[in-house]
Amino acid sequence: MYDVIVVGAGPAGSTVSRKCAEKDLETLVLDKQSFPREKLCGGAVSERTLKLLDFDIPEEVINQGCNGARVHFQGETVEVEKDYRLGLLVSREKFDSFLLKKAEKKGAEVKDGERVLNITDKGSHVLVKTDKEVYRSKIVVGADGVDSTVAREVLGEEISEEYFKLALENRVEEVKFQDKKCDGIIDVFFGDIDGGYGWVFPHRDFFSVGIGSYEDKMKKPLKRQESFLKDLNLDAPDDFRGHRLPVGGQGRKKVSGRTMLVGDAAGLVDPLTGEGIYYAIKSGKMCGETIGKAFSDEEPDLKELKIMKRDVYMR
Ligand SMILES: Cc1cc2nc3c(=O)[nH]c(=O)nc-3n(C[C@H](O)[C@H](O)[C@H](O)COP(=O)(O)OP(=O)(O)OC[C@H]3O[C@@H](n4cnc5c(N)ncnc54)[C@H](O)[C@@H]3O)c2cc1C
Repeated sequence: MYDVIVVGAGPAGSTVSRKCAEKDLETLVLDKQSFPREKLCGGAVSERTLKLLDFDIPEEVINQGCNGARVHFQGETVEVEKDYRLGLLVSREKFDSFLLKKAEKKGAEVKDGERVLNITDKGSHVLVKTDKEVYRSKIVVGADGVDSTVAREVLGEEISEEYFKLALENRVEEVKFQDKKCDGIIDVFFGDIDGGYGWVFPHRDFFSVGIGSYEDKMKKPLKRQESFLKDLNLDAPDDFRGHRLPVGGQGRKKVSGRTMLVGDAAGLVDPLTGEGIYYAIKSGKMCGETIGKAFSDEEPDLKELKIMKRDVYMR
């Protein structure tokens, strides 16, 4: 019997498990993918996100420091450059593995390459069935991203389609941009993408170039990304990569019995900017601390878990 099983080892899951392990709780993290794993993302990590962590991000995980932005709108550009860091650009493969290692070092047990198929709240504990095993746990945290299996159990219903955005991203090598260098300035483009925006984020030797908007607003998303690249004088790539982003989590249920939700699984992405790593880490931290408090004895006080209500995440 585990004290806590965390489903998903992205930034949200690693943070919950690190916090639970710090409290000496028997913690298991399960992820269907084997780490290091790729995650489609612009890789922008804001300074406020870094402030949530009580450790530094090592140089080998950082692609680029960011200290400014150029905002483009209808042919006009406003550029802001600061003499201090505004955030980092990272490859999620390295960033997420680093955070997971931090949890492991604190004592969390990690089993990757193991998919959770379903969970069943038995009242006295929760059964977690994977494609390899069945585990028992006193608490289960769903940190399993936008298409969360755990969320379906917690919410007991499908989430309405209006709560999803769509983002597409391509990696473009620095040499393919004629007049652009991988400096510390990000570019954002408003006005061209209905209900959203386009971005060019300079990583060490490549750019993350992408667009994001609400699914119903962005007609023909592949064509839209192709024309965004064309406007930047870039050739259309051979493949397009896109993924959904969940929004509207503030008003959604996140705790039921012995089960809790964090990060994308809880719908915690900024609906305007699409920033999700901040909310993943913040909700993960608060969830871990809440579970820590709930376990004053061998058994958790489930009433304590209910403190993780809607607004707590967004404070
Ligand atoms: C194109 C794009 C660009 C983005 N750019 C940015 C950006 O620049 N900055 C930013 O802050 N945010 C960005 N986001 C949002 C950000 O990626 C997410 O909000 C963030 O990854 C959420 O973290 P998480 O830990 O909740 O979930 P995830 O990082 O999605 O991790 C979930 C984990 O759960 C695992 N999992 C899923 N199902 C199961 C299962 N059944 N069993 C076991 N494991 C499972 C997955 O393998 C995965 O490792 C972007 C999103 C997209 C789509």
